Amino acid sequence: MHGHPLSLYNSLSRRLETFQPLAPPHVGVYSCGPTVYNYAHVGNLRAYVFTDTLARVLTWKGYDLTHIINITDVGHLTSDADAGDDKMEAAARAAGRDIWAIAKHYTDAFKQNLTDLNIRTPSRFPLATDHVPGMIAFAESIAEKHCYRLDSGLYFDVSTVPDYGRLARAKDDAGESRIDPVDGKRNPQDFAIWRTSAADENRQMEWDSPWGRGAPGWHLECSVMSKQYLGAHFDIHTGGIDHREIHHPNEIAQNQAHSCSADTGATLWMHNNFLVERAGKMSKSSGEFLTLQALVDRGFHPLSYRILCLQAHYRSELEFSWENLAAAQVRLKRMVQSIEGLRARGDSDGVIPSGYHDQLDAAVSDDLNTAKALPLLDTLVAEKKLSPDDRLAGIADFDTVLGLNLATLTRADLRTRPAAATTDEATIEARLTARKEARAAKDFAASDAIRDELLAAGVEVMDGDPLGWDWRVNV
Ligand code: AMP
Ligand code: ZN
Repeated sequence: MHGHPLSLYNSLSRRLETFQPLAPPHVGVYSCGPTVYNYAHVGNLRAYVFTDTLARVLTWKGYDLTHIINITDVGHLTSDADAGDDKMEAAARAAGRDIWAIAKHYTDAFKQNLTDLNIRTPSRFPLATDHVPGMIAFAESIAEKHCYRLDSGLYFDVSTVPDYGRLARAKDDAGESRIDPVDGKRNPQDFAIWRTSAADENRQMEWDSPWGRGAPGWHLECSVMSKQYLGAHFDIHTGGIDHREIHHPNEIAQNQAHSCSADTGATLWMHNNFLVERAGKMSKSSGEFLTLQALVDRGFHPLSYRILCLQAHYRSELEFSWENLAAAQVRLKRMVQSIEGLRARGDSDGVIPSGYHDQLDAAVSDDLNTAKALPLLDTLVAEKKLSPDDRLAGIADFDTVLGLNLATLTRADLRTRPAAATTDEATIEARLTARKEARAAKDFAASDAIRDELLAAGVEVMDGDPLGWDWRVNV
């Protein structure tokens, strides 16, 4: 509300637009949440670092935010279109476990990932399975005018709404060839809004409906939950860029059918680009993927991954590599080291330097340009013309937006410390203290012996390391 006008990229117009909330100061944001049949991979988590940045910027600029992240615990098939198995049912069957227990396990793990990445808890995490009656009522209200029955369920006829696929602009062959054919569909892009169970289908999650016992189609839940918690028209809808092609066009079609208008349901549709590996896009269904825990096991702090995300603009592809992550961790550590120095010298409350506040505002108001905000923060930390207290106040201001926990993070937190290491931290610290004492007593034979002993346990002692790492575990 204050400061620079907020400019955000709208995937609908493929343009930057000045953000104008429907009912200021209130802003409603809906973010498509994870499908909880497995752990989130770090690519998925990039989507939530992005929505958290959006949420933090809106709040920092003075808006009163309601943010919804749903949990997809039913209905998402192995393809985003209508082919394949229900991801949740397939995972439960493969694990031989109760589907509700699977959903709870991965939902809890997802929430823990958000906490570890310092992603603020949204206003609500609604579960799809808690909204099935609402989904049935929504489907009933549009069935007559917009849907038709096949044996496999109730299908949405996309030719009944204006301008289907405007968001995707996927009228080329590549777009359409990804939509798997289902016998009897009127248009290739038609999609199931209710899937009727086949006679021999053995589902753990099933509900009665006017179209037989079965389960809702995936796209339906987001139309229903966004409407329930934010209203039929709200401010911003977010998701990963894959959602721009199928899931969001389908949500829009349902919203238009329900409101009997051309209204898409949200003013802005925003999409983060992918985290990619050299081998291609990171994906959950491929089986092999990187979780946040895998990064921690290699000795990286979750916030090093957060800063890696913030270094790139959310609309750019970001390449993941261990080298990039290590460089991000060093960057964060340098920052934390300087801030520790300021804290040691500061002694009272500072005043936020207005020039820096304004530059931060200009950067993030330019479509959430955190990549531009980070070097400003580096300059602020090193700004000799400002007192340590004022610098600390400015850093706290930046951190409200960046969420790097700069007020509490320590260098020791950021030490690379792989889970596979054969020795523990207390032992290392004790041996290093003994080594310091030996050196103070000029007993270099003893100090060298301790260094060699640590090296044999995989611990490299880093005397005089400018970043103050002191030691690191090599694996
Ligand atoms: P899912 O659990 O598959 O429904 O995905 C959760 C979120 O992650 C969605 O917003 C996806 O669009 C997003 N997403 C999936 N893969 C990636 C990736 N490699 N990089 C960034 N975002 C992704
Ligand atoms: Zn969704």
